[in-house]
Order: sequence, then C-alpha cells, then structure tokens
Amino acid sequence: MTRILAVANQKGGVGKTTTTVNLAAGLAASGQRVLVVDLDPQGNATMGSGVDKRTLAQTVYHVLLGLATAESIRARAASGGFDILPANRELAGAEVEMVELEHRETRLKFALDRVADQYDFVLLDCPPALNLLTLNGLVAASAVVIPMQCEYYALEGLSDLVNTIRKVKQALNPALEIAGLLRTMFDPRNLLSQQVSAQLEQHFGAKVYETIIPRNVRLAEAPSYGAPAVNFDPSCKGAQAYVQLATEVLKRGGFERAAA
Ligand code: ADP
Ligand code: MG
Repeated sequence: MTRILAVANQKGGVGKTTTTVNLAAGLAASGQRVLVVDLDPQGNATMGSGVDKRTLAQTVYHVLLGLATAESIRARAASGGFDILPANRELAGAEVEMVELEHRETRLKFALDRVADQYDFVLLDCPPALNLLTLNGLVAASAVVIPMQCEYYALEGLSDLVNTIRKVKQALNPALEIAGLLRTMFDPRNLLSQQVSAQLEQHFGAKVYETIIPRNVRLAEAPSYGAPAVNFDPSCKGAQAYVQLATEVLKRGGFERAAA
C-alpha cells in the first residue's frame, strides 16, 4: 500500500523542503519507489531535486485545475532516485482559482489516485501556510510529518497545526494521523532547544521521531547544486541523519520491504 506523507508546518524555514527531498532520497536509496509533490509556489523542492522550475510548461498548478494529469507533468529528480511533480510561482494562482471550483479540497487527492499505486511513498512538500494548498495536501495524505525547530514559539504554532489536522480528520479525511514530529536544525549546545525538545517528548511521546536532524551547513548548500544532501554529500552529518530518518519511517510504518 502506498503511504502518502504530507510534510507540513505553517511556519516557514523549519525544514519542510529539506526534509521532503532528503527523506525522498533516503527512502529511494533503500529501494523504495518515491514520488515528491511540490505544493509550494516557491518551487524549492523542484529546484532542490535538480528540475529547473523556470522551464516548465506545465506544473502542479495545471494538475490541480484539471488541465493536466500527474503523469504528464511528472519529472525525474536529477540525482535523488525519485520522481517529482514540479511547481513554480504559477501555483500561487491555483490557491485563488480553486476557491471557485467544485471539490476544491479534494483535487490533489483525486489527481494522485491515478499515480499513487506506482509508488511506495508519496511525499507532499506543503507551503508555509494553512491555506487551500496545504489543505489539499492534508486531504490527500495518510499521515503528516511535522518538521520543527526547537524554539520558544514552536509549541504554540504546533497546536494550531494539530487542531487543523484534527478538523481535517473529522470533516474530510478520517484516516489522517500524525506520522511523527521531526526535530530539525538541532543544536544540542543550546539549552532552550533541549528544553523544548524535552517538552515535545512529554506532550507527544512516541510521536516524536527518535532521529534528530542536526544543524548542518551541507544541508543548506545542497539545493544550489540541485541535489539532496543525501546524494550531494552522503557522508555529512545532515545526510546521515536523513538516511537514519528514512530507516525509522520504514520501521515505524512496517514498510520495510524484503531486499529483492
Ligand atoms: P521550509 O521548507 O520549512 O521553509 P527549508 O527546508 O527550506 O524550510 O529550510 C529553510 C532554510 O534552512 C533553507 O535555507 C535550508 O537550506 C536550511 N536548512 C534546513 N535544514 C537545515 C539544517 N538541518 N541545517 C542547516 N540548514 C538547514
Ligand atoms: Mg519549503
């Protein structure tokens, strides 16, 4: 069965895109068939996968508006070993135009229905807002991965997201669950980070991934080479953490496939 994971947090700059492309590459490296969907008009997951967002004739925008199929816009990541449905700034228009359309919350879900079974994992890189694009992501997903920085306001923002997930579960997607909370850009020398991290474990228990993503400059450099750090510099600490996360995601979901 395909596992569709929305990588979501309405805060910007918490590591959603970095997590999406590196987790995708980590899962692909362990033999999983992976599709990334770029749901952010910034197109960072697209560029970070080595697909030039400026040269695309059709994108996720066209898919959401029913003007193209997922198969027809699908591209291959340059080095990550996964496929991607790419996006660029045009997608911001979908946010506005979809409001007028029927089934506006379920358009991604139905668009993915036709391709999802070709993959073991579909990762949805959500934009930094609880908007209609993120809502489409939450409705299409089986579970949510929440990347977060262990900062003072992190827990406050988290309750908004958890409430949104609860509402979507009640109204539109009864199967939706939190897959896990991921601590990103972690600096163990920072006392506040340690405190927030401990609070997170207290509140969310086993929902917090054991894997912690350290702050690592190689993770920030890799996108400018159009590659996930997992491929660009597999030996760096950040890449290794994301490979470990892929292993943890596989173990948790019981999705570890026997080696062929
Ligand atoms: P989001 O998608 O949530 O907005 P990004 O994944 O784009 O967040 O990350 C925000 C910025 O921080 C980017 O410049 C990214 O390269 C950088 N970054 C992300 N994770 C790390 C990390 N673990 N260590 C260092 N820099 C990181
Ligand atoms: Mg992003």
